[in-house]
Amino acid sequence: MGKMIYLDNAATTKTAPEVVQAMLPYFSEYYGNPSSIYDFAGKSKEAITKGREQIAEVLGAKKEEIYFTAGGSESDNWALKATFEAYKAKGNHIITTKIEHHAILHTCEYLEKRGAKITYVDVDEDGIVKLDELEKAITPETILISVMFANNEIGSIQPIKEIGRIAKEHGVLFHTDAVQAFCQVPINVDECNIDMLSSSGHKINGPKGIGFLYIRKGVKIRSFVHGGAQERKRRAGTENVPGIVGYGAAAARANASMKERTDKEIAIRDHL
Ligand SMILES: *Cc1c(COP(=O)(O)O)cnc(C)c1O
Repeated sequence: MGKMIYLDNAATTKTAPEVVQAMLPYFSEYYGNPSSIYDFAGKSKEAITKGREQIAEVLGAKKEEIYFTAGGSESDNWALKATFEAYKAKGNHIITTKIEHHAILHTCEYLEKRGAKITYVDVDEDGIVKLDELEKAITPETILISVMFANNEIGSIQPIKEIGRIAKEHGVLFHTDAVQAFCQVPINVDECNIDMLSSSGHKINGPKGIGFLYIRKGVKIRSFVHGGAQERKRRAGTENVPGIVGYGAAAARANASMKERTDKEIAIRDHL
């Protein structure tokens, strides 16, 4: 095989060598279960805290608002299904768009079969969600607006700040699938009134099978995976310590190089 030029970085990215290096000791040297009580396990626990801090920093979030999952799909499923369940008393209506990732669209189909009412808002010729249509769709039964930050196929970046403002004005929760935006464009969860945000490690030169859901303090959604008391009792399962270490390292790396990378990618795109 000749030299390969890989251009499918929206599907997945190569794990950065320094990310792999950061992860390695947590497979073979510091393999303790973070929930164990002896000193050796403390190393794993510290590593999780560091990863959580590295990620929270990128979003202007508190580290306690970051919940590690097994990837973007799980985070999207959790946000939608758990909101539907937790806010049933208020209503059953969710607003999303026609251009979401399957992790959102197929979850919406699943919820429709269980009594949810879903509005799929259209986008304009540039792939930008129609804000007037979105605002008009809100009813007293609306519990959630879920709009992706950046599209994985056409790259359109949505007016997230505006959507966050609309959601807040109407007292509706706002979730964004930011898998293609985290560490690619600046995001501040407070400025954008984001209540929940999904992300995934392998789209930013981190490992596969690790993601997180940012959940703003006060949002009442419950656990989606039941079992142990990990992740503040909201996501059971022994933590993916090497994955979290790699994710944190990848986020710090990608966030620091955001402008430089973007300028380079724009230049390559324009040239092509
Ligand atoms: C890749 C992707 C996902 C799924 O993430 P996984 O970690 O692969 O489950 C969800 N949403 C968008 C926009 C994506 O690009």
